[in-house]
Amino acid sequence: MKPDVSAAPLGEGRDDTAREALISVLGPSGFLWEPAAMAPFARDWLNRYGEIPVGVARPANTAEVAATVRLCREHGLVIVSQGGNTGLNGGSVLGAGQRGIILSLARMNKLVTLDPLGFTVTVEAGMVLATLHDRLADEALSFPLHLGAEGSAQIGGLIATNAGGSHAFRFGMMGDCVLGLEVVLADGTVWDGTRALLKDNAGYQLRRLFAGSEGTLGIVTQAVLRLQPAPRGRATALLALDGMEQALEVGQHLRRNTGEMLSAMEFFSETGLALLLKHVPVLSRLFAETHPLYLLVELSSAAAHLDLDALLEAGLAEAFEAGLIADALIAASSVQRGAFWRLREEMPEGQRLEGIQIKHDVSVPVAQLALFIAEATRAVETVQPGIRVNPFGHLGDGNVHFNLSPPEGRADFSQQEAALSEAVYATTIAHGGSIAAEHGLGQAKVELAERTRDNVERALMKRIKRALDPDNIMNPGKVVPDGLA
Ligand SMILES: Cc1cc2nc3c(=O)[nH]c(=O)nc-3n(C[C@H](O)[C@H](O)[C@H](O)COP(=O)(O)OP(=O)(O)OC[C@H]3O[C@@H](n4cnc5c(N)ncnc54)[C@H](O)[C@@H]3O)c2cc1C
Repeated sequence: MKPDVSAAPLGEGRDDTAREALISVLGPSGFLWEPAAMAPFARDWLNRYGEIPVGVARPANTAEVAATVRLCREHGLVIVSQGGNTGLNGGSVLGAGQRGIILSLARMNKLVTLDPLGFTVTVEAGMVLATLHDRLADEALSFPLHLGAEGSAQIGGLIATNAGGSHAFRFGMMGDCVLGLEVVLADGTVWDGTRALLKDNAGYQLRRLFAGSEGTLGIVTQAVLRLQPAPRGRATALLALDGMEQALEVGQHLRRNTGEMLSAMEFFSETGLALLLKHVPVLSRLFAETHPLYLLVELSSAAAHLDLDALLEAGLAEAFEAGLIADALIAASSVQRGAFWRLREEMPEGQRLEGIQIKHDVSVPVAQLALFIAEATRAVETVQPGIRVNPFGHLGDGNVHFNLSPPEGRADFSQQEAALSEAVYATTIAHGGSIAAEHGLGQAKVELAERTRDNVERALMKRIKRALDPDNIMNPGKVVPDGLA
């Protein structure tokens, strides 16, 4: 079928030839090129990045992904892999001035094999995380990655960003849950590493290399994931605290007293809660009084006949005795548990509805969290007095979403965005932290990463990129800058 170039956004002859070749391999429903059909794929989740692609490839299987890669090489097109397009740094769309395609994995969404004896599942990369959760629920199994975007984010995208989420400190990041991978490489060859093995030291850990590679080294087409037994019970508490120092101590007591049962420790501040309640009035303040900080803690276990509520109360007893906890609520039902979690999970929404904001996804060693938040707050207040700081995140792994809103009554940051972010990142680095904790670099942070990387690390990353993608066609300009010289 010859595409009608008059309707195409970039009506150049070479694009038309490339489209024809791709349609011949993928079929008309496997390659979209009309502007309206491409629109949902062209811009990122936050609508900050994205160019109109030559087309959107929607392969149905690994052979079609490989054929698409070979054709793109031939026609000089770059390839941006796209999962659920929920990434927060512009990694899943084209960079400015790039000529290329979006390769959507959405049609490759099957469960390939489930091994209940070995506690593994093999899935295609386009399976949505929530779909996997639903499929496993029938088998009394679980995949322990949970995040706010789980209704759209795909397994391939989660691997490519090495996603974290609220249970990472117990079960690890996405890369820690991957046992095997199938990847289409930049020359169109397929690496079949779909071995369902935890212990596999027969050479370099290639599966690890692709976790967090953001589509720059290859396209993940299948994954073997490590499963857990489904939890039979949960106990959840919402604690009101005077500050981050107290939260760190409570966290330490809980870890020591409840061990491997502790599966989440999520914090948010009164600033964030006030914004949320202002904009989402169906939610309510669960404590009678306001407190500077709130900590949601949860135990879970697959073991039957365990009284997790009693364990949680016992686990918190020392912290109560030490006067570390100002007030506490233990969820008496799944509805109440849901209400606790909703406050934490809707934190980003409250701030989004307030208006313009600057997001920083950073991490520091856990013991540095209180100091980091205090110093970073002072640093941004020096740049812009009155700025509203809304830190929330994951106490167990030191990951803070250090997000800023302009001073009350102001609609913008008075052109101080760069200075504010610089202050946050400088404080992060001074505390031995990472400027990109769980959302990756995408195109938003690639220059920042380049500036702050040590020379040896910078050179190593470029050598890896050059070795696997010598022609720089796999999501160029992400992770390492476009010019590789
Ligand atoms: C409301 C909300 C909450 C979120 N919460 C969290 C959180 O708690 N923790 C967290 O870590 N992240 C979170 N995120 C960010 C986002 O959900 C994750 O980065 C997620 O892993 C992206 O998956 P995706 O399928 O949407 O990938 P996309 O956004 O489509 O792509 C992300 C990157 O992966 C690459 N990619 C996608 N699929 C493949 C593939 N098959 N092969 C190779 N490369 C590929 C893309 O090229 C891009 O570089 C949140 C996002 C939102 C909107």
